[in-house]
Amino acid sequence: MANINLSKLLGEQLPVDIINFMKKAGEAAEKRQQRLYVVGGVVRDLLLGRCNTDLDLVVEGDAIKLAHAIAASKKAKATVHTRFGTANLKWANRSVDFITARAETYARPGALPTVRPGAISDDLARRDFTVNAMAIELNPRHYGEVIDPFGGRQDLDKKLIRILHKKSFSDDATRIWRAIRYEQRLDFKIEPETLRLLKWNIKMLKAVSGDRIRHELELVLKEETPEKQLARAGGLGVLAALHPALKADDWLAETFAAVREKNLPEPAQSRLYLALLCYRLNEAELEQLMKYLRLPKTTAQVLQDTLAIKDKTKELAAPGLAPSVVYRLLHVYNAAAYIANSIGADSETAAEHIELYLNVLRHVKPALSGKDLEKLGVTRGPRIKEVLQKLREARLDGKVASKEGEREIVRKHIKSL
Ligand code: ATP
Repeated sequence: MANINLSKLLGEQLPVDIINFMKKAGEAAEKRQQRLYVVGGVVRDLLLGRCNTDLDLVVEGDAIKLAHAIAASKKAKATVHTRFGTANLKWANRSVDFITARAETYARPGALPTVRPGAISDDLARRDFTVNAMAIELNPRHYGEVIDPFGGRQDLDKKLIRILHKKSFSDDATRIWRAIRYEQRLDFKIEPETLRLLKWNIKMLKAVSGDRIRHELELVLKEETPEKQLARAGGLGVLAALHPALKADDWLAETFAAVREKNLPEPAQSRLYLALLCYRLNEAELEQLMKYLRLPKTTAQVLQDTLAIKDKTKELAAPGLAPSVVYRLLHVYNAAAYIANSIGADSETAAEHIELYLNVLRHVKPALSGKDLEKLGVTRGPRIKEVLQKLREARLDGKVASKEGEREIVRKHIKSL
């Protein structure tokens, strides 16, 4: 394809403050005799007409020094990673990453790459797919010029996800998950030879650390409809590499759709998706998966609680349970685990009981305090807790509705002793 200049498209599609920032950054780079490019997702999405303002800037030369020079004029907050030669600038609601252009080589499959400074062409050559391996120059003399050495624009037109070279998946098998993620998000197809190599390299996922796989799964679960990515991963045998007992079927799609209806903020929504993905595992399978992915404690607790509540579905499915019984069965788990079960339970009655607990029962408390009980003559210590529990149950089951009613129960209780 002929070289094109996208300065007009940039101006039409990106907010004016981002355009001004990119131009200023280009001028600052020019002054320092560096070349500056915007790369990756923003370029891809610009050409697709999708909104993306997460700028990744690549600098030929020292990215950190350039970022500092720009930060000073913008009053932006700079965070620097000297080891990686990267910096991040934040101001207002904007965030921009600066990376030093680099070349990467892989000593062995799955290992982290060896890195050395390079030119923009090296930096694009280390990327995952042709559609992500394009850059737009920001220096004033070349502002808007597209660099597309691998035919990314052509693949955007053909709606194809294509790797840059044969060893791409064996160098870094996380690209398998990434290919699926973009294919399903953009409604593209993985190009046939790429697909063949992807399948061949599924075994290489074992060479990747659980941390990196977890990161890819987290990205999948942040997609708009992650059930699509998971179904594709299921069809290709990639999901089985995560754990052979995981399933991405109609049930999963229906429960994920129900999650979206809750309109939860992140990370609650992703966690709920994960809980439902793991809902049909048994305890031992869940343990294996959690260990492999090295899930953080809070997430692990949600998943364990989800299975603990699921274990009680049969009891919760009995119609007409007294509220105090529901309370006892469901007290006390992580909030997300209730929602996962109210969506996932195969019994409507059980789901209703869970919702009742979540929305009403868990907030029910006796009006009398421990101090009040002491004044009424209940002996200090475990007995107080016992009586408070009795009062709560009486409230839950509608046997008492006033403070005086509670006092009456306490007096009777003391007498009965
Ligand atoms: P999005 O954020 O919309 O998913 P993105 O393209 O911004 O897309 P990031 O995960 O932020 O995705 O990565 C930024 C860029 O870094 C990608 O466009 C890609 O070029 C490159 N990249 C990320 N991960 C890899 C990888 N494992 N191998 C090669 N290149 C990668």
